[in-house]
Amino acid sequence: MDTVCGSEPPQSKKVCVIGAGMAGLAAARELRREAHDVTVLEQSGDVGGQWLYDPRTDAADPLGVAAPVKVHSSIYASLRLISPRQSTGFTDFPFCPKSGRDDRRFPGHREVHLYLKDFCNAFGLMEAVRLNTRVLHAAMTPARRWAVRSMDLGLVECDDTDEKTLDAYVDEVFDAVVVATGHYSQPRLPSIEGMETWRGRQMHSHSYRVPEPFRGEVVVVVGCGESGKDIAMEIRGVAKEVYLVAGSMEAVTPGLSKVLAKHSANLHLRLEVERLCEDGRVAFKDGGGSSSSIAADTVIYCTGYSYSFPFLETGGAVAVDDNRVGPLFEHVFPPSLAPSLSFVGVPRKIFAPRFFETQARWVAQVLSGRRALPAEEEMLRSVEEFYRAREAAGVPRKYTHEIGRRDITYMDDFGEKYCDFPRVEGWKHELLVSSVRGMIENLETFRDDYKDTGSIRRAMQEWHLSCVQWQSSPPSCCSYTDGRPCPTGLHQRAQ
Ligand SMILES: Cc1cc2nc3c(=O)[nH]c(=O)nc-3n(C[C@H](O)[C@H](O)[C@H](O)COP(=O)(O)OP(=O)(O)OC[C@H]3O[C@@H](n4cnc5c(N)ncnc54)[C@H](O)[C@@H]3O)c2cc1C
Repeated sequence: MDTVCGSEPPQSKKVCVIGAGMAGLAAARELRREAHDVTVLEQSGDVGGQWLYDPRTDAADPLGVAAPVKVHSSIYASLRLISPRQSTGFTDFPFCPKSGRDDRRFPGHREVHLYLKDFCNAFGLMEAVRLNTRVLHAAMTPARRWAVRSMDLGLVECDDTDEKTLDAYVDEVFDAVVVATGHYSQPRLPSIEGMETWRGRQMHSHSYRVPEPFRGEVVVVVGCGESGKDIAMEIRGVAKEVYLVAGSMEAVTPGLSKVLAKHSANLHLRLEVERLCEDGRVAFKDGGGSSSSIAADTVIYCTGYSYSFPFLETGGAVAVDDNRVGPLFEHVFPPSLAPSLSFVGVPRKIFAPRFFETQARWVAQVLSGRRALPAEEEMLRSVEEFYRAREAAGVPRKYTHEIGRRDITYMDDFGEKYCDFPRVEGWKHELLVSSVRGMIENLETFRDDYKDTGSIRRAMQEWHLSCVQWQSSPPSCCSYTDGRPCPTGLHQRAQ
C-alpha cells in the first residue's frame, strides 16, 4: 500500500499551515525538517491555540449558535492538564518542570502555553509564523495549487470579518495546505424541547471561564465529559445546587460516584433532561419511567464541539456530517485532493502532541515525495471499510475520529507504517498507560493524590533522568531528517 520512494531527491514545497496550536506547530516543525518552505497563518496574537487562555467569551452568543465563534479558546481559568506532563510533551522535547514556573505533574493551562512557546523558540518556528492573520478562504486552483486569502487582523479596527477593508487582504498561492485549526471551539448543542424559549440563562462550556457568576444559583450542567465534570465540581463551590446530567449510567464511573457521594449536599446526578419548561423549571427523565423537575437559574451545555472549516472550499470533496470529517484517508488526506490538502489534529482522545507529530511527519514525507500514497480509489475504499467497521462495532458517526487514549497500539502502528516514527516502548509506554489509568480511576483528586507505585515509580525516575540529560544536551532539533543541516541555521549540530 504505502511505499517508500526510491532515489529521487526530496522536493521542497511551498506549504501553508493554517493554525499555530499544538497540531500546527508539530506540522511546521516536521515540514521544515523535510526542507519545505513553510508559512504558518495564525489568527490569534500568539501561538498555542486552545492553550492561549482568553478571558473574553462569546458573550453576545453564549450558546455559540453562530459559526464561526469569535473567541477561539474554550479553556477556563482553573483548567489543568488532564494527562500528566510526562505523557504530553513532544517526543524529543520533554515537558520538563522549570524552576519558577508551574512544576506540577498536571500543570495549569498557562504552563502548557509557555511550554508550546518554548518549543517554538527552541526550533526557530516563530520565523515561519504570521500572527494576527485569519485565513478567510482556501481553495484549489486549476493548476492544483492552493489559493489562500487571509486577513491581517492588525489592520482592521474590529476583528470582525464583515468590517474588513480590502487593504487588509493578502492573497497567496501555495503548493499545499495543511489544516490545523483544531476542533474545540464551535459548540455542539443538544436538541432539547423548550430550549428556544426557556427564560433562564443558557450557555455552552465554550463560554465558561470562572464560577463566580453562578454564586447562589441552581445550575444544571448537561454533559458528563471532562469539562462537564470539572465545571460542575467547580461551580458546586459557590452555587446553591448543581445538577450534573450524565446522559446514561455508563458515564457514572466509580470515580464520579465517589465524588457525588462526597458532595451530596449540593451536587446531584440526573440522567437526562426531558425539557426546559416555560415556568423556568427543568424537567428530567430519571429512568424507570419516572421524572422530576427543579427550578433552575442556568443551564450549561458541556456537550462537546463540532468540526468546522468555514474558510475551506473543496467543492464537496471534504464535508462535515455529524462530526465526521470526510472522506479522510487515515484521518489525514482527502483522497481526491491528496496530498496537497491534509489535516493534522483531527483525531480525538489521542496522546497529543505525539500523535500530531506522526501525522505531520507523514504529510511532510508525502509532500517531499519520500513516501507515496495509495491510488485515490484505494484510499476511498479504505475509508469506506473503516466506516463500515466502526458502524459494525456500533460506534456512532459522531465518534468517527475518536481513537481512545488506551489505544497506544493504534498510534504506534500508524507511525511505524507511514513514517518510521519510533514506537513507545519500555518506561515511556508505562507512563502513557498509567496516565490513562490515573484519569479514569480517581476522578476528583487524581491530579494531586496520584500515587506512583512499582514500575510507574521506576518510569518516573527514568523520565526525570531523561529531562536532566535533555536539558544538558538538547537535540539538534531542526535538522532535516536526511541529515542535512538545520534550515533555520539555529541548530547546526549533528543529530
Ligand atoms: C477545555 C479543554 C480542555 C482540554 N484539555 C486537554 C488536556 O488536558 N490534554 C490534552 O491533550 N488536550 C486537551 N484539550 C484538547 C486541546 O485542544 C488539544 O490538546 C490541542 O490544543 C489541540 O491542538 P490543535 O492545534 O489541534 O488545535 P487548537 O489548539 O485549537 O489550535 C488551532 C489554532 O488554529 C487557529 N485558527 C483557527 N481558525 C483559523 C483561521 N481561519 N485562520 C488562522 N488561524 C486559525 C486558532 O486560532 C488556533 O490557534 C482540551 C481542550 C479543551 C477545549
